[in-house]
Formats: sequence, structure tokens, C-alpha cells
Amino acid sequence: MEIVVCVKQVPDTTEVKIDPATNTLIRQGVPSIVNPFDKNALEAALQLKEAYGGKVTVLSMGPPQAKDALKECLAMGADAAILISDRAFGGSDTLATSYTLASAIRKLGNCDIILFGKQAIDGDTAQVGPETAEHLGVAQVTYASRIEVSGDVARIERESEEGYEIIEVKLPAVVTVIKTLNYEPRYPSVKGTMKANRAEIPVWTAADLTVEEGRLGLKGSPTQVRNIFTPPRRVQGVIIARDTAREAVAELLQKLTEAKIV
Ligand SMILES: Cc1cc2nc3c(=O)[nH]c(=O)nc-3n(C[C@H](O)[C@H](O)[C@H](O)COP(=O)(O)OP(=O)(O)OC[C@H]3O[C@@H](n4cnc5c(N)ncnc54)[C@H](O)[C@@H]3O)c2cc1C
Repeated sequence: MEIVVCVKQVPDTTEVKIDPATNTLIRQGVPSIVNPFDKNALEAALQLKEAYGGKVTVLSMGPPQAKDALKECLAMGADAAILISDRAFGGSDTLATSYTLASAIRKLGNCDIILFGKQAIDGDTAQVGPETAEHLGVAQVTYASRIEVSGDVARIERESEEGYEIIEVKLPAVVTVIKTLNYEPRYPSVKGTMKANRAEIPVWTAADLTVEEGRLGLKGSPTQVRNIFTPPRRVQGVIIARDTAREAVAELLQKLTEAKIV
């Protein structure tokens, strides 16, 4: 079974800072990590390989330092890693990112299942997985909490706001995963880390992919970021603590009346 996992290197913080002049993320001085949901996707891939055999390849599109993220994935047990990196990819929005990832997946060929985290903790759009499926013209299942494979069919449990859905899809397919799939992805082993440190990670540039230049990077990105801001914190509410419900309700009614709500 050929399994591809797309991983993104993200800043190690959920409090991303934005450059007000360019409306882009400030990455300087913030340590980077593998996007946590992508580690759940990799753990799922490694478990699928253990159950059904095959190969796990991790792909990342990003600057040269994204190799560190790929090395961590190799240390966890991935068989191969490829960095997709080129100045031509700079300024990519999710459409251009997914187009580029899809081109790399096509170049790999014969992929049975392509795994993504449900979302990246910096961009947070959750668009890249589904958009990649559209570019590839394959089925997609999002928010997977369990994946089983039988022949060329995957049986996937997905979490929705109403509960769980069980979906069967014919492979190849794109699957985006949530944390409950495996909660604690494995740690890199010492042997794996040594192997990863020695590994040469191939870098694919735009010239290595079959792509239309106008669909890459800033040129291929229709998204316009007009403003990015942190919403003001909500002011703390009023806590009513009384010995009995009757007293609490009486005080609540008094406060609502004073505020002219009732
Ligand atoms: C106009 C514009 C310009 C931008 N310019 C830049 C830029 O110059 N440099 C820059 O770094 N970002 C840039 N970004 C941000 C970039 O588009 C997003 O970070 C990227 O498309 C992923 O979107 P996301 O973070 O919302 O990921 P999500 O869609 O939330 O990610 C879902 C999953 O997709 C996979 N994934 C996402 N991104 C990648 C990736 N790069 N490689 C492999 N797998 C991935 C992971 O599995 C992840 O869990 C720009 C965004 C916009 C709107």
C-alpha cells in the first residue's frame, strides 16, 4: 500500500503574530514544529503500513528549513520524504499550495491513500486537503477518526457535529484526520533519529513538476488578505453564587431588570 502524508511545518504557537504592513505571518524568532494534526496523520499511515504493508512517503511544501520537519517524520518511521521548495511557490494561498502538492503526488504516482491533518494550526483554513483531492479528482473524507482498509476500499469513521458517519470510499482517496484517530503519535526512536539525520531529502522545484506557471505562488493565489486581527477578548461575565436556586434566580432577575433586558 502506497501512503502519502502531507505535513506542514508551523510556528510552535497558536498566537501567531501578523506583520501589519504585509498581512503575512511573522515567523522569525518562533521555533517551528510539525503541525500536530499531521503527526496524527503520520501515525495513522504508520499503523496502516504495519497492518497492510507498503511504504509511507511524507511531502512538505515550504522553505529549506521544512527539511527539519521531514526529518522528524523520518525519525518517527516514514520511509521517504520529499521537500517541495522553490521561490516560484512563495506567496501561495491554499489553492496554489494544494495545486502544487497535487502535482507532486501525481509525480509520485500509484498512491493509494493520501493523508492530511484536519487543519494547520497557523493558517487554520482546513482547505488544503479537500482542495488537493479536487485537483487530483479523487474521493475525499474529512475529519476521520478511524480508518480501515479492505482491498481497494477504505471504511472511514468521520466525526461530524451531529455524531459519527461511516463512509466507504474507493481508493485512491484523500483523508484528513482528527486527533481522536490515535491521540498520541509515537515518538521518534533513537535508531530512527540516527537514520533521519543521515538521510538526504530530495528537493523538487517547479521544474521537476508538471505545472502551469500561472497557477503557482502569488500569481496562482486568488485569495486577498485585507485585514488580519485578533478579536477583542470577551469581558468576563457576572457570576451569581447564592446558597439556593431561588436566591440565585431572584438576583439574576434583578440584574436583568436593571440592565433593561427584561
Ligand atoms: C495570499 C496569501 C499568501 C500567502 N503567502 C505565503 C507564503 O509566502 N509563505 C507561506 O508559508 N505561507 C503563505 N500563505 C499561507 C499559506 O497559503 C497557507 O499556510 C497554506 O496554503 C496552508 O493553508 P493552511 O495553513 O490553512 O492549511 P490547512 O488547509 O489548514 O492544512 C490542512 C492540512 O494540509 C496539509 N498542508 C497544509 N499546508 C501544507 C504544506 N505547505 N505542505 C504540505 N502539507 C500541507 C497538512 O496536512 C495540514 O494539516 C499565504 C496565504 C495567503 C492567503
